[in-house]
Amino acid sequence: DWFKAKNVKGYAPICLGLEDFYVRRLYLRIQDCFGRPIASAPDSWFDVVERTSKDSNKTLQRTSNTTRCLNLGSYNYLGFAAADEYCTPRVIESLKKYSASTCSVRVDGTTKLHTELEELVARFVGKPAAILFGMGYVTNSAIIPCLIGKGGLIISDSLNHNSIVNGARGSGATVRVFQHNSPAHLEEVLREQIAGGQPRTHRPWKKIIVIVEGIYSMEGELCKLPEIIAVCKKYKAYTYLDEAHSIGAVGQSGRGICELLGVDPADVDIMMGTFTKSFGSCGGYIAASKEIIQHLKHSCPAHLYATSMSPPAVQQVISAIKVILGEDGSNRGAQKLARIRENSNFFRSELKKMGFEVLGDNDSPVMPIMLYNPAKIPAFSRECLRQKVAVVTVAFPATPLLLARARICISASHTREDLITALDVISRVGDLVGIKYFPAEPPKI
Ligand code: PMP
Repeated sequence: DWFKAKNVKGYAPICLGLEDFYVRRLYLRIQDCFGRPIASAPDSWFDVVERTSKDSNKTLQRTSNTTRCLNLGSYNYLGFAAADEYCTPRVIESLKKYSASTCSVRVDGTTKLHTELEELVARFVGKPAAILFGMGYVTNSAIIPCLIGKGGLIISDSLNHNSIVNGARGSGATVRVFQHNSPAHLEEVLREQIAGGQPRTHRPWKKIIVIVEGIYSMEGELCKLPEIIAVCKKYKAYTYLDEAHSIGAVGQSGRGICELLGVDPADVDIMMGTFTKSFGSCGGYIAASKEIIQHLKHSCPAHLYATSMSPPAVQQVISAIKVILGEDGSNRGAQKLARIRENSNFFRSELKKMGFEVLGDNDSPVMPIMLYNPAKIPAFSRECLRQKVAVVTVAFPATPLLLARARICISASHTREDLITALDVISRVGDLVGIKYFPAEPPKI
């Protein structure tokens, strides 16, 4: 009745064959989630983590129990969220020198490290200038309103991250959504918005910004960036690219989706990224032309009124980028990049061979395994955890109601044995829960 009253489609199949307990629990969780951001099985990740292993991939010690398990849920793509022979001593030094916080806004809270990282990020992503923010989420939600406002048009991918959605809503600009990763639908929306479907020379918008992500975090999909840029150029729209999951994780030298797909960074107007994934730190950045960065430095409240990024966090990113670029004097960066690519492609192809429905593209370290039925969420994550594999499950409203999934994140610091163990567990649990939707590929003789 509740589903009917809310006009939620597909309520019948969800309830078929479920134990009463699960049905009640599911109702409560979904009810709870209208207006709240998450619906998932609590066991594997709503607990307090007190300690992780050195590589953050093995032990997750929680307040309720200590579980030595394989961590397949962290964004620790290059394994920098761990003690590192190059990064850690430098981070400790910076802590001693600058302390954990500048306790000041950028006006008097800019250390040499902050300017060094801004220059390094600009060089790394191939843009003339960059600006730092204390948080990736805030980078999107605070920057978008500084770039566009009333009279402007934002055209946003339908699966863009919540920080982009909030930034777009807060900007006061008109927001239109195009079908996920569809350059053809983007063109349709642009044509409709510019000319109202009629041949017209007048352009009714002060400015148009198209916002996409490099790798979609719930889909594991690579952005069709070259095609999207071509459409934007044709209709003279600016491009804004969120590289939270692609910077450092893909591309021959870790420079992200542009490097992977052969796109010239000059063709992307605004590049956004976070330090919370590949670099094992926190914070975010915008890289763009000198004029845009200058404009942000003088107008963005999150730059003018917020405490500058923590110096040890800045130092961690500087050191991680130097390792990635080989400027630490070793080839560990190249090895990490080769490893994450190999690991991701191996894991994805093995899952597919087993008969799972896996979303996303090759080279992407994010791989969602489709569960569909929300009742399979607790069953899958609990059973995996019991067998010592921690997975993150994602459901409504982060995904449509009947498109629940387990989202695996692969790291360069997973060993081949780790991955084989995980595949074994996931296969067994997949049989138990009934989520192998395709026939398994027969083994090659
Ligand atoms: N953009 C995207 C695409 C993200 O997935 C996230 C968080 N996972 C953010 C922005 C926010 O970044 P942070 O967690 O560093 O605040």
